[in-house]
Amino acid sequence: MENQIDTQMVRRKGRRLVLFPIPFQGHINPMLQLADILHSKGFSITIVHTSFNSPNPSNYPNFTFHSVTDGLSESEASMADIVALVKLLNTRCVAPFRDCLIKLLADVSEEPISCLISDALFYFSQAVADSLKLPRIVLRTGGVSSFVVFAAFPLLMEKGYLPIQESQLEEPVADFAPLKVKDLPVINTEDPEVFYELVAGLVNETKASSGLIWNSFDDLEQPALATIRRHFSIPFFPIGPFHKYFLPSSSSSLLTPDESSISWLNKQAPRSVIYASFGSLAALSEAEFLEIAWGLANCKQPFLWVVRPGLVRGSEWLESLPSEFLETLNGRGHIIKWAPQQEVLAHPAVGAFWTHNGWNSTVESICEGVPMICMPCFSDQTVNAKYVTDVWKVGLQLESGLKREEIERTIRRLMGEEEGREIRERISELKEKANLCLQQGGTSCQSLDTLVGHISKLES
Ligand code: UDP
Repeated sequence: MENQIDTQMVRRKGRRLVLFPIPFQGHINPMLQLADILHSKGFSITIVHTSFNSPNPSNYPNFTFHSVTDGLSESEASMADIVALVKLLNTRCVAPFRDCLIKLLADVSEEPISCLISDALFYFSQAVADSLKLPRIVLRTGGVSSFVVFAAFPLLMEKGYLPIQESQLEEPVADFAPLKVKDLPVINTEDPEVFYELVAGLVNETKASSGLIWNSFDDLEQPALATIRRHFSIPFFPIGPFHKYFLPSSSSSLLTPDESSISWLNKQAPRSVIYASFGSLAALSEAEFLEIAWGLANCKQPFLWVVRPGLVRGSEWLESLPSEFLETLNGRGHIIKWAPQQEVLAHPAVGAFWTHNGWNSTVESICEGVPMICMPCFSDQTVNAKYVTDVWKVGLQLESGLKREEIERTIRRLMGEEEGREIRERISELKEKANLCLQQGGTSCQSLDTLVGHISKLES
């Protein structure tokens, strides 16, 4: 069977791409945006996805969808330990993904496949692709600057920065300015060894791939791109920001965005609203949630707040909010379960984004010129937040923890004072650069053309 496929692959070269997103919102969105971009360049698109968190095919009538059975039980799929879940997906998907690829490669009624494009976190897919002699290109949905740190994990261990010691948190990490030890991208997990294994898989299997696509752009992460080019011999394609290629981009939301956000924003003054949202995975304790609530209530600015079901550990939704909180608001706040985030950030009423600094949220904020209040929770978010505050200087970090007085103070600094004005100016410049890189002759536009040429030349 395999030999037959090999011969077919050599004979039949085509313009079909198989894309394989890892099933988390912050990874599905950029993968499907990338699919739209490559489809516009003449490629046929097949999306292979897990049954867990499967995307909605009806939003993508031009693509073909294939589901692979991941075998996750309900309790496994809802486990809070993301590291354990990613590891499990990398184990359980091997056989079904391989079977699916074999079928797709053998299907002569469809256009032949040029390559697989899979999420960097699906590192198992490199060995599967190799065994079927199918080239694999990697999509890294996070930033380049954080990837540089992940790639340096062995060195950071050797130098004693990792595993992180409480006593070293404020220490600068040598050669990684402006990062301090507390900014290193780690995740609380039951078994830290599994996390290190996962990072090694992510980095090494990316190195073994035929190329790496970034949802980033040259003007934003030039130094990090230069660093990583010195360590990786594969070609790089920084072609972001993905979501700005087509407006509005098709929805790959797993939750239904609450459109009342926009009608509520329509009634607010320009640049007055704080938009607070912490992405699809972050979880807070009830005490943290209440500090955020009172920080928002006391700051006297209008706010749009996404409280995702499951955001507060042990709560369904808003039940831990005291009734006097809602009374003091008097319509000044609007709380929803999920927002049409890109539309919200583009709304003229939004003046600041209080974010956990997931990479998509960070890029989306930059593209709309909305300054950030940074509250990173785990993994690459800590690096992204540090770059927002100390490198691009387009946001402020809550410096003395999650306390209501600190929140009020930070919001005031960002919305009102001279410091806030300078931050707004800087993020407007960055927004301009994000626009320029997608135009004819812009760096991302050129890089996309190079990617298209690269895919066409891949030998399968
Ligand atoms: N998002 C959204 N509505 C929300 C919150 C988030 O559409 O209420 C989208 C957001 O636009 C982004 C993605 O979900 O594209 C979250 O990705 P990110 O990398 O920011 O964070 P993650 O969820 O992976 O932690």
